[in-house]
Amino acid sequence: MLKIGCHLSISNGFHKAIQEAVSIGANTFQFFTRNPRGGKAKDLDPKDIEGLKKIIEEYDFAPLFAHGAYTMNLASKSENTREFARMILKDDLIRLKEISNSYYVFHPGSHVGQGSERGIELIVDALNDAIDKDNDTIILLEGMSGKGTEIGRNMEELKAIIDGVKYNDNLGICIDTCHLYSSGYDIVSNLDGVLDEIDRTVGLDRVKAVHLNDSKTEFASNKDRHEVIGGGTIGKDAIIDIINHPKLRNLPFNLETPNELEGYKKEIEFLRGEYR
Ligand SMILES: [Zn+2]
Repeated sequence: MLKIGCHLSISNGFHKAIQEAVSIGANTFQFFTRNPRGGKAKDLDPKDIEGLKKIIEEYDFAPLFAHGAYTMNLASKSENTREFARMILKDDLIRLKEISNSYYVFHPGSHVGQGSERGIELIVDALNDAIDKDNDTIILLEGMSGKGTEIGRNMEELKAIIDGVKYNDNLGICIDTCHLYSSGYDIVSNLDGVLDEIDRTVGLDRVKAVHLNDSKTEFASNKDRHEVIGGGTIGKDAIIDIINHPKLRNLPFNLETPNELEGYKKEIEFLRGEYR
């Protein structure tokens, strides 16, 4: 069974989000751990989480994706911004212990002119501070499109971060089809070649999750503009190949396409129909 869902808001509680997920045929979903622009996380309501566990078991849900705030920049030049990001990271990881079936996905950061080597060093330092040997949450660095000074624009940068972290057994990557294509990995005409390259660098066993998006911009544009499935430069055929590829087909996929619930429902129906 295809593990597919989409990004949903938990501002009305997990219970509401999971009902929505079930109503659109999803068996996973992604949520922001807090306001996407940063800020305080809502306290988790034990009753809300209890309901979540029941439904997750009943509907045999795949892992959920807990997405870190976009404003979290562990590689910032400003010490205040870095400290804030490190605090959010630690706090998110503590809160996620309550939601057992979830992966933590976050954008590695932007070096804002300090150079990627320095940026990677700062990210590694923050992760070493946040991840101890008892950590059992799967933490995933998201591969980025490479806009601005983003770190994680290629597999080598992601690999350098993973290698720098002492307790990295549960550290992996989340690939985003839009970001991959716009950062110059040709998943449209050479999916096998891209997967071989990922395997040679970070290792395919580190790839635990996929953001499934089409792209508004051309190949290698280094832009991050998600498009609805089949409406962009990646296109339906390449996306169908991705969800069916033997090396990817068992991973959980979450859509971050520009859609309301009804649009997500249609995309999920379509993708389930194309899953062989
Ligand atoms: Zn993301």
